[in-house]
Amino acid sequence: MTSINWLEETNKRKEELIATTQQFLQIKSVLDPESAREGSPFGEGIRQALDFALGVCEKAGMTTKDVRGYAGHAEFGQGEELIGILSHVDVVPEGDGWSTPPYAAEIVDGRLVARGAIDDKGPTMAAIFAAKIVMELGLPLSKRVRFIFGTDEESSWQCVNTYFETEEMPTMGFTPDADFPLIYAEKGLTDLSLRQTLASFQSLGIPAAENVEAKLVSLQAGLRMNMVPDKAVATLVPIGLNSEAIAQNYRQHLDATGLKGKAEVQDGLVVLHMEGVSVHGMDPSKGVNAGTELIHFLRTLSLDERGAVFVGLADRYLHKQHYGEAIGIAHNDEEMGALTVNTGVIEYDEKQDALFRLNIRYPHSVAFEKWSAVLAERFSEGAFTLEVAEHLTPHRVDPNHPLVTTLQRVYTEQTGEEAGIIAIGGATYGRSLDVGVAFGPLFPGRPDSAHQRDEYIFVDDLIKATAIYAQAIYELAK
Ligand SMILES: [Zn+2]
Repeated sequence: MTSINWLEETNKRKEELIATTQQFLQIKSVLDPESAREGSPFGEGIRQALDFALGVCEKAGMTTKDVRGYAGHAEFGQGEELIGILSHVDVVPEGDGWSTPPYAAEIVDGRLVARGAIDDKGPTMAAIFAAKIVMELGLPLSKRVRFIFGTDEESSWQCVNTYFETEEMPTMGFTPDADFPLIYAEKGLTDLSLRQTLASFQSLGIPAAENVEAKLVSLQAGLRMNMVPDKAVATLVPIGLNSEAIAQNYRQHLDATGLKGKAEVQDGLVVLHMEGVSVHGMDPSKGVNAGTELIHFLRTLSLDERGAVFVGLADRYLHKQHYGEAIGIAHNDEEMGALTVNTGVIEYDEKQDALFRLNIRYPHSVAFEKWSAVLAERFSEGAFTLEVAEHLTPHRVDPNHPLVTTLQRVYTEQTGEEAGIIAIGGATYGRSLDVGVAFGPLFPGRPDSAHQRDEYIFVDDLIKATAIYAQAIYELAK
């Protein structure tokens, strides 16, 4: 049993694997609400792709189930315990600028090029063929193995949410929808708003400000909570200072700091623009937040009472506070890294709500209840209230769990490389499983072409991944 050459077994089936993967990729499985109906909630293309995957499994001798088109599964093996392999058949829209048609699935210079090649139809077919190898070799199994095919991973994950309402949760499993060697831990993700209404501000009873130089009329920065804003604009009414003086101060501030922006004077108002550097909110320290930089300048002016409270809080607690230091929620986890705070959206309107929208990612060793209470407390000073828009708890499988150690060993045996395990700040499909990790398909050092034009997987990597998955399935279910 130990002498199975998984790569050789894969190579025997190489032509069929490639041809089947190409057919699968030729189905345009993009979310299409127009053609959605009972049994195909995300449209015709996704329905076809789900049927295709289930068909290949059925032909291989697995038993299949369609869960109202939200997801489907295919199972083989026997036993009490269930090994899950979770992947998705939907793809993001193809976009423009491809050098070969996105659904032609042509092979160019050893690359299979198509939307979905690496995310996630290529690896889905690799895993199905891996299972076919285990089945065709007639290897005895003591557990059941189940493929679960999701259908809206790229949008709202209704697929897995609906599926697990009625279907069995695997004992353990993996998703071939991220990176090799293995992702075992994902930070908790929170999108939240801190909102101050005009009425709540007034309830603070703050006396009218004296010696006001300018009144803050509005401020806007950013569009998405999980991105660092690269543009911000604030409008001021000059009061104690004239508009030219404010504009001049701002230009001097830009010169002194090396920041980019401009000041305009129009109709008696001063409009200040700031440019930052947008990066993913996962690591805001790598970007320049145009919103908080602009606020940091506004802090030098004597503002009206509401403007001053807004700017004061933001400057103290959010400007360059990528880890929540000033708020008092900084927490560095040896394994999973630091809690991070991204101020993705800032809105202020003198006649309406003032708002900060934050994306906070945190390791498993600090409780959501704990840090969110501290944050709420800090901003209550300015009559802001905290509203949670979305919250995913941290996901982590013990590094000593047999799921992790088995997959590590398989990876090393198949590649000759050490299998370091990875903790990330993002989210993978693996978190849909109670005990789940992400395992491939992208090998270390390979550029990630997911969601890009000319998405591809190297044919050699598809083969190698299949061999890895075959041994993995066998080792987990034997
Ligand atoms: Zn994916």
